[in-house]
Amino acid sequence: AEADAQQALTDGFHLIIDALKLNDINTIYGVPGIPITDFGRMAQAEGIRVISFRHEQNAGNAAAIAGYLTQKPGICLTVSAPGFLNGLTALAHATTNCWPMIQISGSSEREIVDLQQGDYEEMDQLAIAKPLCKAAYRILHAEDIGIGIARAIRAAVSGRPGGVYLDLPAKLFGQVMDAAAGTRSLVKVIDPAPKQLPAPDAIARALNVLKGAKKPLIILGKGASYAQADDEIRALVEKSGIPYLPMSMAKGLLPDNHPQSAGAARSLVLKEADVVMMIGARLNWLLSHGKGKQWGSEPKKFIQIDIEPKEMDSNVEIAAPLVGDIGSCVSALLDGMGGDWQRPPAGWTDMIREKVEANIAKMAPRLMNNNSPMDFHGALGVLKTVIKERPDAILVNEGANTLDFARSIIDMYKPRKRLDVGTWGVMGVGMGTAIAAAIETGHPVLAVEGDSAFGFSGMEVETICRYNLPVCIVVFNNNGIYRGTDVNPSGSSDAATTVFVKDARYDKMMEAFGGVGVYATSPDELRRAVNEAMDSGKPTLINAVIDEKAGTESGRIGNLNPQSVVAKK
Ligand code: ADP
Ligand code: MG
Repeated sequence: AEADAQQALTDGFHLIIDALKLNDINTIYGVPGIPITDFGRMAQAEGIRVISFRHEQNAGNAAAIAGYLTQKPGICLTVSAPGFLNGLTALAHATTNCWPMIQISGSSEREIVDLQQGDYEEMDQLAIAKPLCKAAYRILHAEDIGIGIARAIRAAVSGRPGGVYLDLPAKLFGQVMDAAAGTRSLVKVIDPAPKQLPAPDAIARALNVLKGAKKPLIILGKGASYAQADDEIRALVEKSGIPYLPMSMAKGLLPDNHPQSAGAARSLVLKEADVVMMIGARLNWLLSHGKGKQWGSEPKKFIQIDIEPKEMDSNVEIAAPLVGDIGSCVSALLDGMGGDWQRPPAGWTDMIREKVEANIAKMAPRLMNNNSPMDFHGALGVLKTVIKERPDAILVNEGANTLDFARSIIDMYKPRKRLDVGTWGVMGVGMGTAIAAAIETGHPVLAVEGDSAFGFSGMEVETICRYNLPVCIVVFNNNGIYRGTDVNPSGSSDAATTVFVKDARYDKMMEAFGGVGVYATSPDELRRAVNEAMDSGKPTLINAVIDEKAGTESGRIGNLNPQSVVAKK
């Protein structure tokens, strides 16, 4: 009888697990500790894949990119106060990038926290999280777990996706309730991201603007790749005949070698276009806010497809706002185009093609050099071929020069294969992103990392080895941030602010945990090592020695550095 009574009970731990599973959430990225250690164990025992990291920010970055790849909220599990704060950077990053994620954090006793009596890891986490994410909730009672998790999921994925904070005080986990009542309290979220249809007159207006264009351009953003409307988008581009420019994470939505890609003629098309249709891309800093020198003197009309109405007119006037989900908007445009759509004038498309071909031809010989130490072009020429031969592999990319050069040199052939620093241009996403990419897709991952960028998440090479993930990291080692050549201007023996230990052996870090480490000084060595790693699937780190004089300050965004007016001493 005692056993029966026990069987008929459930508790907070199990209700949270059951609520997640009921909603098809089967992976958690986190770092164990008080008060969520047992929760992680139980979740693993119940069949959830629980991936433990060495630092919460990396677990959070993994959850963020998992959300982008799957359209389900990526879950990051953190301990109270410091662990919570470590994860919060990634939650804000997910929100900024419009990716669905839920940071679930344990927290200390409410009564003590609210009276500020000095609890273990005391912090009013809900209040702190609120301004940094799309929504924030706290669950105090076991019977509210079902509705609380449903609310978090819907908030993360509906409308413009984003990060959600879910606060779970330690006491909640142990709260007991009747098992049958517990099961009834759970909520399966129905249609978590409902379609949002554009208004017919908005579609007609957009088509009118498009018909009036002599030099139209489509810009595809990562919202378009997130939307998983790949076939519709391709049909729209091809039926319209309009040249398109992919933003970095939209590369591969259509293959980069597509005849309509204007990727290699970016400066030209931004200057010359007269009508620009943005699909899941924002006119933020990455597009110079839609104005200024980069956009030239040709007057522009913008059409913008976005699920977030407030995005319209955020930087410049939008002549034809299309508010709705990308799949529905693009389908409606296709329907409205009818059978006799006029493709853009050949003068425009031919001019772009010529520029694209000229730029590609100019770049080609630089990519084939076999210099040692390597420059960025020699090393990236190798990696370009690696991805071309393995279009299903996922490319993770961060750094300054390493990012800028790789973005333009490495062609992508399939959607959602290029994962990078996103809207913030943040350094430190690399290993979390690589780990989640391998876990969520099962495909091999090539992480192309600046040596500085790698340092932010480098300890996760242990995680990669522990889970035996098919991740090949190539560290572009030029001895420092931007370059490795700076000297301390004061004459002191302290290192300059932007340089690292010369000729550091990042490859040995991988070996320390049982992975494969390679020291590569030439493109030939790099090619051999990367091919072997990508084919074997063994965790590998290749230390690619790059000329420390190669690279420029801040890569291509040096103009964002403030300048001192005081003359240099
Ligand atoms: P990029 O940096 O590639 O230009 P952004 O992150 O700036 O892309 O823009 C992505 C945009 O896509 C955001 O404004 C977001 O609201 C929008 N978006 C995301 N998902 C969808 C969707 N399913 N339908 C419509 N718009 C979406
Ligand atoms: Mg560097």
